[in-house]
Amino acid sequence: MTQWVYAFGGGSAEGDTSMKNLLGGKGANLAEMASLGLPVPPGFTMTTEVCTTYYKNGEQYPDDLDPQVEAGLAHIEKLTDKVFGDAENPLLVSVRSGARASMPGMMDTVLNLGLNDETVEGLAKLSGDRRFAFDSYRRFITMYADVVLGVHHHTFEDILETFKDNRGYMLDTELNAEDWETLVGRFKDAAKRELGYDFPQDPRVQLQGAIDAVFGSWMNDRAVVYRRLNDIPAAWGTAVNVQAMVFGNMGETSATGVAFTRDPSTGENTYYGEFLINAQGEDVVAGIRTPQTLTKVARENMGDEAPSMEEAMPDVYAQLAETFVSLEAHYRDMQDIEFTVERGKLWMLQTRTGKRTARAALKIAVDMAAAGQISQDEALMRVDALSLDQLLHPTLSPDAPRDIIASGLPASPGAAIGEVVFTSDEAEALKKAGHKVILVRTETSPEDIHGMHAAEAIVTARGGMTSHAAVVARGMGKPCVSGAGTIRIDLAAQEFSVMGRVVKKGETVTVDGATGHVFAGEVEMIQPELSGDFAKIMAWADEARTLGIRTNAETPLDVQTAKDFGAEGIGLCRTEHMFFEESRLGNFREMILATDKDGREAALAKILPVQTDDFAAIFRIMAKDGQSLPCTIRLLDPPLHEFLPHEEADIQTVADTLGVSARELMSRARELAETNPMLGHRGCRLGISYPEIYEMQARAIFEAQKQVASESGVTPIAEIMIPLVSSAKELEILKAAIDRIAQDVGALDYSVGTMIELPRAALRAGDIAEHAAFFSFGTNDLTQTTFGLSRDDAGRFLPDYVRAGIIEKDPFVTLDQDGVGDLISIAVERGTAVNKDLKLGICGEHGGDPASIRFCHNAGLKYVSCSPYRVPIARLAAAQAAIASKIAAH
Ligand code: PEP
Ligand code: MG
Repeated sequence: MTQWVYAFGGGSAEGDTSMKNLLGGKGANLAEMASLGLPVPPGFTMTTEVCTTYYKNGEQYPDDLDPQVEAGLAHIEKLTDKVFGDAENPLLVSVRSGARASMPGMMDTVLNLGLNDETVEGLAKLSGDRRFAFDSYRRFITMYADVVLGVHHHTFEDILETFKDNRGYMLDTELNAEDWETLVGRFKDAAKRELGYDFPQDPRVQLQGAIDAVFGSWMNDRAVVYRRLNDIPAAWGTAVNVQAMVFGNMGETSATGVAFTRDPSTGENTYYGEFLINAQGEDVVAGIRTPQTLTKVARENMGDEAPSMEEAMPDVYAQLAETFVSLEAHYRDMQDIEFTVERGKLWMLQTRTGKRTARAALKIAVDMAAAGQISQDEALMRVDALSLDQLLHPTLSPDAPRDIIASGLPASPGAAIGEVVFTSDEAEALKKAGHKVILVRTETSPEDIHGMHAAEAIVTARGGMTSHAAVVARGMGKPCVSGAGTIRIDLAAQEFSVMGRVVKKGETVTVDGATGHVFAGEVEMIQPELSGDFAKIMAWADEARTLGIRTNAETPLDVQTAKDFGAEGIGLCRTEHMFFEESRLGNFREMILATDKDGREAALAKILPVQTDDFAAIFRIMAKDGQSLPCTIRLLDPPLHEFLPHEEADIQTVADTLGVSARELMSRARELAETNPMLGHRGCRLGISYPEIYEMQARAIFEAQKQVASESGVTPIAEIMIPLVSSAKELEILKAAIDRIAQDVGALDYSVGTMIELPRAALRAGDIAEHAAFFSFGTNDLTQTTFGLSRDDAGRFLPDYVRAGIIEKDPFVTLDQDGVGDLISIAVERGTAVNKDLKLGICGEHGGDPASIRFCHNAGLKYVSCSPYRVPIARLAAAQAAIASKIAAH
């Protein structure tokens, strides 16, 4: 028999924290907390296998599930001494989702379940608080109707607002028991009107409905989008947790809150959180009421009037603080906690590893390692390599003039500039059209995920540091200012105003998520300071990794940036990129459009000194202070069509330089046009057809090398790389030509190698290695040609493939280890069998992708090469790969 249901509570549990895959994060941690003896309301978890089985069997539950759910309910009844559906002594439960990876707000939750016209009376008597009972009932109807039955919650909110207006009430707290009772009647009528049947009264029917809805929400649109953005496979499924309700809305000695054991923005070792008196959990997250601070210090720092929890409920706070200490010690990581206080008694509703900004992740990892709580290797494994990206980008220049429009909470750090937009659809559309946008909303909800993803930064008028906008923005690494209370958005007029000042849609603003300010126009930015915790983690990473890290760069600025970020050489200098600049494009076009060798040589003669200067500039940066870092320079590999003139004026200019008519030029351009340029006259094929091009480039490299060697006394390490090779013969011919030029110039030290970027090259690596000093895997083309999938067009239909589950991830982002990876392994094996000194690296985009870097480490490559801003990510990812394989070996 399969165990579908795992119970917890009363000081023990059937599951534990190691069972996250089966019980989901929430379920596993509730079980663990229960076993630790912490006050957890009793409950049970329906496993993720129920979910996966349900979807596998055409939305049918396993046959033996029902009795296990009944047993789970009986377990809760026993521990609470209450009975589900009982009119006198009713048990109420919450039903919540809980996947393996946390997906905040993406799936459904139902609270106060089990209330009906009879049990509400029982609850009123039991609690001695009729107002509370009917307030809970109306919350239940609203939530259940919305989540389970599809009646939008606005239906009920409108009724409530009208009721308040009629009675002259401002706040919900002004409604008394009778008011809520009246409203419950109206809510039920409204539900019936919308549904065509009565709101369900049978608690068991309610429970089944809620369970169906939560499992169903695994496949709702926003959960699907969230999974895609966060690389969470659909096959994981979600668990469902059914748990006895505890009430934070039972008056002034009750409360609900969320807390982090350290500051999730900065990583500071201080408790951090918010709570609301006389409220239920969803009130905090929804950002409807402004929460109070947890600690006295935080209240003083924020200049808040309302007392902190430390001051308002000192005893419960002390117990909570003790729990923080024991949970952090137990989990050895920063925890994100939800709690409820019911009439002075503390209940723990959740603990999980807290999401944090990259800055906080670094600080927490370094602090915990320094305190001996974790090892240096563990500290390295704790930081998400990709998240370092957040730290590498500019912040506002402290001295730059600025014109502040609004301020709110510093909800997620970083600075960004963009045009104001007010809806998520618009944000997405403008982003697609190449704009940078700032999404300004009253508050965000999970329906805004796509807009938040498209935006450079998010600003909300309402909500606290744990509001939806704040939590999601931090997870995405986007700047966010939340709760900018003075902002009034007028959607109809497409503008927002702050105390009379109007900002229209499309106007540029600058957002500083680190201070919570919004400024008019563009504020100057500065490059980040990469010292402190960042430098420490990088130094530890360098100790741990065995892979070398190089960069793909060709401009002096990029080369210098990469070197500053720790690049140990250039893995790919794309020489064709040196000609994108307007001033050089002319000569280059002249060269490719020339109809004969003389014409080409005339153009090449003009290019030679420019190329020599370009290479010298790079060598100067990489051979300095007695140290020489290797520079792999790839000979020309242009998809020629990218360089052809298209505009009439351009055509005329090029024609004039070449001394031909525009008509002749056009016809030459037509001759060059290819049906399939990616598979056309590219790479070394060009060198075979026009040897003088590669000869010129080799000459430029050797002359630049000599020049820099004589200037600095350090010989640059020149590695000349031939692209798009498919046979040994190509390499043999081209290498011979390069060697001839080397002799002619009297070249210093150099080596010649090849890219492996075609399946045939991988398969024939043995022959090719006879002529190559190194292989560099060009996995962009290797992916394109292995799949037969155009790298320029695949983006249009790959999402369909991901959705259909044919591929898990875009293979141009994360290496396809099964197919492309296999070819790499074959090439490594066959190449090194012939040439044991063969240097092996990768220079496709995958060289900066952590999962692909792990593969490269295991495949025995010596280095990865990536774009400059990816270098720190690659350093850390390489360290993590080394540590992971060390762990696997033990
Ligand atoms: C590659 O194909 O992986 C590569 C690095 O070359 P390019 O992207 O310039 O084709
Ligand atoms: Mg390529």
